[in-house]
Amino acid sequence: MTKQNKAFKFRLKPNKSQEILLSKTFGCVRFVYNKMLAERQKTYEKYKADKEMLKRQQFPTPAKYKGEFPFLKEVDALALANAQINLQKAYTNFFQGRAAIPKFKSRKYKQSYTTNMVNGNIQLKDGHIKLPKLKPVKIKQHREIPADYKIKSCTISKTKSGKYYISILTAYEKEIKPVNIQKAVGLDFAMDGLYVESEQGKKANYPRFYRQSLDKLAKEQRILSHRKKGSSRWEKQRLKVAQLQEKTANQRKNFLHHKSKELSSNYDAVIIEDLDMKGMSQALHFGKSVHDNGWGMFTRFLKYKLEQQGKQLVKINKWFPSTKRCSRCGAEKPMTLSERTYQCACGYVADRDYNSAINIKNEGLCLLALA
Ligand SMILES: [Zn+2]
Repeated sequence: MTKQNKAFKFRLKPNKSQEILLSKTFGCVRFVYNKMLAERQKTYEKYKADKEMLKRQQFPTPAKYKGEFPFLKEVDALALANAQINLQKAYTNFFQGRAAIPKFKSRKYKQSYTTNMVNGNIQLKDGHIKLPKLKPVKIKQHREIPADYKIKSCTISKTKSGKYYISILTAYEKEIKPVNIQKAVGLDFAMDGLYVESEQGKKANYPRFYRQSLDKLAKEQRILSHRKKGSSRWEKQRLKVAQLQEKTANQRKNFLHHKSKELSSNYDAVIIEDLDMKGMSQALHFGKSVHDNGWGMFTRFLKYKLEQQGKQLVKINKWFPSTKRCSRCGAEKPMTLSERTYQCACGYVADRDYNSAINIKNEGLCLLALA
């Protein structure tokens, strides 16, 4: 048996007084985060010459500020404790070279906080959820959480268009037996669309309604840029843009869930290239389009959906010559970005991405055979 996690996300419908307390909690979490960060920066400046002294310094905790700032006592103490944990994580990521140095959070930053299940302080009942410090909050629970799933923590957030959501993280035990791999598929990342697969050379294109929403969003953003910032017409337009941004983000996420579900049901192993999207968009000057393509989110979905069934996501080295190689005879030749068709001296002719996807699949199968 292994421990599995699953998150469930629902809309929250707080009443007026609950909205006020939620807003206070978002503010207090940001406040203590910034306070603790300022203090750590000061400690660092003071002792940076002496690494040993630096190591021995105690880091601040939220409790330290409650005397001076009594309003902190009004909100969920676990939310503040999580701010401390988040800051610690941010520092760890920074020290290990995975992230930039922690920065102060501004009011514009995402409004959210996380609280934990301790002694039954969180309860789902009759279309409401009981959360620390709050009277039961109305929840639009469109699906049941299975009885053997234990709630671990909840993250409450407010979007820019003013909607509230709760993400409930649960844990459950599951026996996962490794699947004997019989059906595999290779995916080649596609800039326009998402990927091309190795079986029929089909491209996973974003749905038409999503592309239409994106066009609409671009149009509304243009209108916003012409409005006087802070005016009532600007505010109205800002809200419209925020709603559209949330809508497109949801449409995209749903599409990525749908595609990853389809692949993880149809195949025992999915093989992809281990791409560094950030490096790629910088190196090729593709800018935003690569980031927005959703490849990172898609591969995360794909990985857990496969692993839950004892299946595998195989990543092959990003330097593997998937584009240059002929998938029939194995010969290699240079390919420019504009060449859309692969033509080999052996007579093989195929769509560039289709050829790559087949190579990716074959390389993955080799890795699986060696494992
Ligand atoms: Zn060939």
